Amino acid sequence: MARLADRISRLKDSSTLAVTAKAKALKAAGADVISFGAGEPDFATPAHIVEAACKALREGKTRYENTAGTPEARKAVAQYFQDRFQRQIGPENVIISTGAKQALYLAFLTLMNPGQELLLPAPYWVTYPAQATMAGGKIKVIETDVANDFKVTPELLEAAITPESRLFLFCSPSNPAGISYTAQETKALAEVIARHPQLYVISDEIYERLRYTDEPYLSFAQAHPEIADRVVTINGLSKAYAMTGWRIGYAVAAPDIIKAMTKLQGHMSSSITSFNMPAVVAALEGPQEPVEKMVAEFAKRAEYIYKRLTAIPNLRCPRPTGAFYAFPDVSAYFGLVDPQGQAIDSAASLASGLLEAEKVAIVAGEDFGAPNHVRLSFATSMELIERGLDRFSNYLASLR
Ligand code: PMP
Ligand code: GLU
Repeated sequence: MARLADRISRLKDSSTLAVTAKAKALKAAGADVISFGAGEPDFATPAHIVEAACKALREGKTRYENTAGTPEARKAVAQYFQDRFQRQIGPENVIISTGAKQALYLAFLTLMNPGQELLLPAPYWVTYPAQATMAGGKIKVIETDVANDFKVTPELLEAAITPESRLFLFCSPSNPAGISYTAQETKALAEVIARHPQLYVISDEIYERLRYTDEPYLSFAQAHPEIADRVVTINGLSKAYAMTGWRIGYAVAAPDIIKAMTKLQGHMSSSITSFNMPAVVAALEGPQEPVEKMVAEFAKRAEYIYKRLTAIPNLRCPRPTGAFYAFPDVSAYFGLVDPQGQAIDSAASLASGLLEAEKVAIVAGEDFGAPNHVRLSFATSMELIERGLDRFSNYLASLR
C-alpha cells in the first residue's frame, strides 16, 4: 500500500516556485545568479499598508476573525469593484482568502463536480490544472496561437465546449504570456458564455493593475449584462501592492457562491491573518501613487525586454502588455548543443543549460502548456535585466 494518496502522488511541484527556490539556493551558496524566475514585484510594500498591519497588531487584533473577512475589508473590496468596474456589489459578494491561490482553489472546489470539464486556454499558469484536477475536474486545453498573441477567439472557445464543460478559465493580463485582451476581445468571449448557461467562468484578474497599454480594461463580469452571476473574479493584493508574502487575495461572485466558498474556507483555514484585515482597507482605500510608480517602472522594463528579445535572431515574442512576463518562442534553438555539451532539445533543457552555464534562471514553458517557450519575469531591476539579457543572448549565440 502506497504511503501517499494518489491525488498527491499525481500532483507535480509548482515549477514557478521551484525555479525561484533554486535561484535563491544558488545565490545563498555564493553563485552570481540573475533570476528571471520570480513572479513577484521586486518593490517594497507601501509604508502606509505596513503601518496599518503593525497598528492592528499593537492594538491587539490577534484573535479569530469573520471567515470571509471583516465587514470593513469586504466593503473596501466591494467599493473598489464599484469604482473600477462599475459593479453594483456589496460585502456579501466578497470573500477574502489566503492569497489569490486559495480563492482560486475554493472556486474550483465550489463550482466543479468530479468529471466536469475545465476549458483552459494554453499557455496557462501552472496552478490552474493542478487545482482543477484536485477538485476532480477534467482539463480540456484550448490551444492558441503565438501569432495571435496567444488569445482565445470566440470560435476557439465555442468549438471547445461540450456537454461536460463546466468552467472557462480566463486570465488577462496573462501569466505566463504577458499579453492582455482588449475590451472588444473580452466582450466577444463573454457573448459565447452568455449563449451557454451551463458554463461558469473563473476570471483571474490578479494583474489587472499592471498594464502597459492605453486600452481600457474590461473585467470579465462587466463584459455582458447576463453573465455576472456566473463569473467568479479572482484578484488580490500580492501583485499590485507588492504584497506577495502577506498572502491576501479575494474572490468576487454572487452571494450564494461566496457563501459556499466561505463554508469551505471555514473548514480549511478560517479567515486570513486577523491583523492583515486593516491592511486590505489601507491598500484599496489609501494613496495609489506607489502602485502607479511601480507600474511606470514595469512599463519601461516591458519595453526594454521586448526590444532586446526581439533583436535576438530567430526568437519570437509577443509584446508584453501586462503582468511582468515575456514569453519568447525558443524552439528555433532546439536540436543544437551548448559549449558544455548539453543537448538543447526542449525548453526545459534550454532553461537548465542556461542556469548551469550562465547562471540565469528562467522558467521553461512545458508546465505552462507551451513547450516551445520560456518565461522571463521582469520583476527585477533594470540593471539585472540588462546583464541577464546579455548572458541569455550570449548563451543562445553559443549554441551550435
Ligand atoms: N493567479 C496568477 C495568474 C498568478 O500569477 C498568481 C501568482 N502567484 C496568483 C494567481 C496567486 O497569487 P497570490 O500570491 O495572491 O496567491
Ligand atoms: N505566480 C507567480 C509565478 O507564476 C508566483 C509563483 C507562484 O505562486 O506560482 O511565478
